[in-house]
Amino acid sequence: MYLEKEKVEAFYQAIQDADTIIIHRHQRPDPDALGSQLGLKALIEHQFPEKRVLAAGTTTKGLAWMGDMDPVIDEDYREALVIVTDTANQPRVDGELFNQGQKLIKIDHHPNEDPYGDLEMVYPQASAASEIIALISHTLKDRLPMTDLAAQRLYAGILGDTGRFLFNSTSATTFQMAAFLINYDFDAYALSDRFNTLTKAQAQFQGYVYDHLVFEEAAVAHITITQDILKEYGITEEESNSVVGIPGRIEGIYSWVIFIEQAGGPVRYRCRMRSKGPIINGLASQYDGGGHPLASGANAYSDEEKDQLVQDLIRVATDYSQNQ
Ligand code: AMP
Repeated sequence: MYLEKEKVEAFYQAIQDADTIIIHRHQRPDPDALGSQLGLKALIEHQFPEKRVLAAGTTTKGLAWMGDMDPVIDEDYREALVIVTDTANQPRVDGELFNQGQKLIKIDHHPNEDPYGDLEMVYPQASAASEIIALISHTLKDRLPMTDLAAQRLYAGILGDTGRFLFNSTSATTFQMAAFLINYDFDAYALSDRFNTLTKAQAQFQGYVYDHLVFEEAAVAHITITQDILKEYGITEEESNSVVGIPGRIEGIYSWVIFIEQAGGPVRYRCRMRSKGPIINGLASQYDGGGHPLASGANAYSDEEKDQLVQDLIRVATDYSQNQ
């Protein structure tokens, strides 16, 4: 397994040395961001009840069931150890005070494009940041033992980032950690079912997406979702998560992008890019974004830029298929 022993020891030492530990994760959190953040919080609180462990960041309505955030103020950071999970780039950290602590640790599974922190535990081979946290507990054994609450949160994070063990990031280690976690007392089936359940509005919105996908050459598909469409279907941007994987289910589609028009202000589309072969994070970084080789995000600031991104995606996909 990929963890480096000396880094696990340095991580443990940093926790032992700190009275206050503040855990951050990325903006617009998904289940892995919250699972890794709140799972780690539960682990530390259980083993070190005398320490203050704070989860920093904005709350999200749809994922409030995963746990609460804590209020944090400037003074909390003075002597604090800060740990950031699941966040590749510093500008994406939710909470601008994250670099005001005494020590900073980065724990992540994205490519390490923006190295930061006094200690980096960055493993792109991990399916989820939650998998890394589970593996840290598994490695430290009785020094940072797993708990029911932490297991539930970490399992949810892994379910989220692997699409319930379907994505190709799912590895033997993922299953080993899932097996480790599922031994604890939480309802794994209920979590899995929650991730599989659509609201009626989401189901109808899926119908819209299937109907309006645009198929291009080189096995590329895309769709633009306007604010009007979101309103018509009664869908929040967060709920649009349920359509991001759809194009990849269609035979012959290997890369795709879902453009989501942003509300208010100047024109901006959030570009949710996915692939089953061509590497797309390089392209995403040319459009004010980044991410994993096969799952990235970017921004287009005009309709022309959106069209250009599609053309660039076709080019990347064509290069890929010619080199196969
Ligand atoms: P999303 O489509 O928002 O789920 O994003 C997929 C992945 O792309 C995330 O896990 C991030 O790693 C990455 N990502 C999304 N948006 C950005 C961005 N603006 N900048 C850098 N990476 C991003």
